[in-house]
Amino acid sequence: MSTLPQIQLPEATVDFIDDGHLHSLLAGSPPDSHQVRDVIAKSLSKQALTAEETATLLRTTDPELVDEIFATARELKRNVYGNRIVLFAPLYVGNHCLNDCLYCGFRRESTEVVRRTLTPEEIRQQVVALERKGHKRLILAFGEHPRYDADFLADTVQTVYSAKEGRGSIRRVNLNAAPLDHEGYRKVKDAGIGTYQVFQETYHKGTYARCHPGNTRKAHYLWRLDGLSRALEAGCDDVGLGALFGLYDWRFEVLGLVSHAVYLQRRFGVGPHTISFPRLQPACGVLLDQQHLVSDYDFKRLVAILRLAVPYTGLILTARERPELRRELLAFGVSQIDAGSRIELRGYTEAGDAQVLEREQFALGDIRSLDEVMQELLRDEYVPSFCTSCYRLGRTGEHFMEFAVPGFIMRFCTPNALTTLMEYLVDYASPETRDAGAKLITKELAELPAGTVKSELQDRLKRIQQTDERDLYF
Ligand code: SAM
Ligand code: SF4
Repeated sequence: MSTLPQIQLPEATVDFIDDGHLHSLLAGSPPDSHQVRDVIAKSLSKQALTAEETATLLRTTDPELVDEIFATARELKRNVYGNRIVLFAPLYVGNHCLNDCLYCGFRRESTEVVRRTLTPEEIRQQVVALERKGHKRLILAFGEHPRYDADFLADTVQTVYSAKEGRGSIRRVNLNAAPLDHEGYRKVKDAGIGTYQVFQETYHKGTYARCHPGNTRKAHYLWRLDGLSRALEAGCDDVGLGALFGLYDWRFEVLGLVSHAVYLQRRFGVGPHTISFPRLQPACGVLLDQQHLVSDYDFKRLVAILRLAVPYTGLILTARERPELRRELLAFGVSQIDAGSRIELRGYTEAGDAQVLEREQFALGDIRSLDEVMQELLRDEYVPSFCTSCYRLGRTGEHFMEFAVPGFIMRFCTPNALTTLMEYLVDYASPETRDAGAKLITKELAELPAGTVKSELQDRLKRIQQTDERDLYF
């Protein structure tokens, strides 16, 4: 008999993950080149793939065909998304947790970890430290604990928005926290959140049960699977999916993510805003079997295949990964990265050059400063963007618009990327980054056709350089 805590699942809850069906899609011999190329052609025409079509790509092992998948991801990135990369930073607010997720340094059985919940003043100090570096977009992270209820999350969001110093301000706050009920989602929506992220961790039910032992809320697979449906029903229109790669067969998890995206699209007419694909990292007191760890090569495959499968969804690559791999993967269609990240509690004011595993959920692979990451992006001719315009103007589903509304990128995304980049260069950048940024802005402006958008943009860029005016979004 289950000893799970009583949770009332909403009537509308659907288990849309059919393990047997997903396994059957992955079984069988690799597809031939025609089958693979048919799927690639569909992706290039910007149509979302079904789980069956995604499985064709996942079963592809011939190195030449895998290279074609990589090349398609690069082509989609270049021709469809352009060269913008949105930047954000994580902020851990509290690591008390009642769950016992075997992979996590914060799990309740862990005695080595230092437990903390930031006070409003400590939150303010962390936010100001992030603003001083130039950040405008944060994701707040929490353990699952009664003290982190929806009221606490909403209050924290408001504390973050109100913490301003000088020209600094946080303009978009996303959440990564335990799934809520409808009322809870309404509270955090009213507090002005951007995206609500809940990672399913693993879509495979046997593995899920093994990794989430005991009498815990997180042990409820369906409560979590339904979590983002409740968010959408409650009016949070930007939701983020994710799976923790390394717990089970990565190909199954990709099918889980794609099935989830297809389900949300069918039921709500809107797919997920983002998909995250964290890969298992070392964590304090965590010893897991290594059977399903994902190699760098397979990690590249999974990112490229996700890019092909969900054309309207943003892909988030985090600082869990090493700088060289992050740099390579940007070309595969990643749209957001975090930078200058520290995930120790109070890490932005207290952490030194080395990470302290007892104070963080897991180890990061990339703790370069925001300025270093900005400089690399600019030299590689990406346009780093701190844009928060769509969400503030109520233009949700912007990835869809980027594809579907002719000229949307040229009218909104590029100008907003360049104005927020200019703010960064003037207010926060090192001299080297400023030089690299100035060159890139000149190049981007030269590529914009003459017209009102261009002249309005030039005017705003000048105002940012010459006055105190900020936040001049389109
Ligand atoms: N406590 C909340 C929950 O479980 O939904 C928030 C989780 S935490 C802020 C964000 C994510 O980090 C988790 O959902 C999990 O996917 C990931 N994570 C946990 N342990 C990890 C590890 N050892 N390596 C990499 N990622 C990990
Ligand atoms: Fe708690 Fe989240 Fe860690 Fe699980 S992953 S132990 S719920 S903080």
